[in-house]
Amino acid sequence: MAGESELTVKKDRVIIVGGGITGLTAALELGQMGKDILLLEKGPFIGGHAANLPCKATDRCLKCNDCLVEEALRQVRENNSPLEVKNYAKVTGIKKNGGNFIITVEPSWCSIDQEKCTDCGACLEACLSSGHQAITHAPSINIHPFYGIRQELCTCLSEGVSPPCISACQEGAITISDKVESFQVQGKGVLLASGFRPYEPEAPNRYGYGHLPNVITTEQADRMLRERGGIFRPSDDDVPKKVAFVQCVGSRDRRLGREYCSRVCCGYSLRMALRMIHTVPDMEITVFYMDVQNFGKDFERYYNEAKQKLRMVRCLPGDFYGWQDHKILVSYFSEVEDKTISEAFDLVILTVGLSPNEQGRALGEEIGLKVNEDGFLVAGEENLKQGVVVAGTAQGPMDVAECICDAKRAALDMKKYIEGI
Ligand code: SF4
Ligand code: SF4
Repeated sequence: MAGESELTVKKDRVIIVGGGITGLTAALELGQMGKDILLLEKGPFIGGHAANLPCKATDRCLKCNDCLVEEALRQVRENNSPLEVKNYAKVTGIKKNGGNFIITVEPSWCSIDQEKCTDCGACLEACLSSGHQAITHAPSINIHPFYGIRQELCTCLSEGVSPPCISACQEGAITISDKVESFQVQGKGVLLASGFRPYEPEAPNRYGYGHLPNVITTEQADRMLRERGGIFRPSDDDVPKKVAFVQCVGSRDRRLGREYCSRVCCGYSLRMALRMIHTVPDMEITVFYMDVQNFGKDFERYYNEAKQKLRMVRCLPGDFYGWQDHKILVSYFSEVEDKTISEAFDLVILTVGLSPNEQGRALGEEIGLKVNEDGFLVAGEENLKQGVVVAGTAQGPMDVAECICDAKRAALDMKKYIEGI
């Protein structure tokens, strides 16, 4: 296992675990304070979930704050402060030894070197023409490298095929090897910004997700809206005319052992519905909900608009069945008609909640952080005294604006610690 010697650890070196909006904001803040930052991101791209969010503006700004993510990415790209980013770097262990943290990193066995890559795109073409889909582009032009390899889809080695992406890359930027070794890095402080995991309904589930093609999650809808500018039915690529949003999927559900409210998903889904209806004015959207979380300072303004433009039905549907033309038959109890109704929709969008990130939680526990009853990390004064700071959605559901605020708080905490040692 290769590593850094203790003597090479600078006094103000901070290791940030997680390259989502929280980790990036904290890195930029600490960089501006003159600290020496190493940011470790396990995936091929920085930006995390937030980088996949589309702007939800209609004829006016709905304050989704997704543009702030773009701004953070741009700043990292143009960054002149001492900020080093390592993609494909999964942290598998954190230990404290004397005054230093020793962080074990397991690099991905397929990666693109950011120093060498010129963003020419030849590797993507080679990967696609060979019938694979492992190389993908980043969700933002402000991310470099703009191309990344998804380890789980990269199968040439296991198929015994010579990787065509390597021969296509004139810069020698691609590594695909089953011989990568873990390595260690050291720092004086650790800022854990390991984020969340979107709830994934497990099969079998009552929503038909996974077997009815036109039942998708808000995460999938976000990606579609960002990449294609609209929402289309997966079964036939048609624009749906009648859409149902089902709130609180994977949240406030005792049967799943997930009783907490994910707080931010009401706001996300209502903004998304308003954006969809703005793009396709004759679209009919029904929102099935328990109660709407009044969250964020601009909530009232767009909630009033949502009540005028969307059909809000206070009830969570019981059953979802496949229907003709790939429609979904949704049955629910109507308070207005005082009976159970079955109604067909072209598309159902499940508003999924935020789950704790198990890997981040395990790392946090390794360095003395506590876990709350919902499975998120909790940090106290005693952790800060040890040089451990946790930030963003690793602590519980937050929206983009909250993550940014919390990252700034975390950066200040870390500065205080580093300057006090
Ligand atoms: S072919 Fe090489 S230089 Fe071009 S985008 Fe791919 S990795 Fe980067
Ligand atoms: S090794 Fe094959 S599957 Fe993996 S990225 Fe290269 S071309 Fe695609």
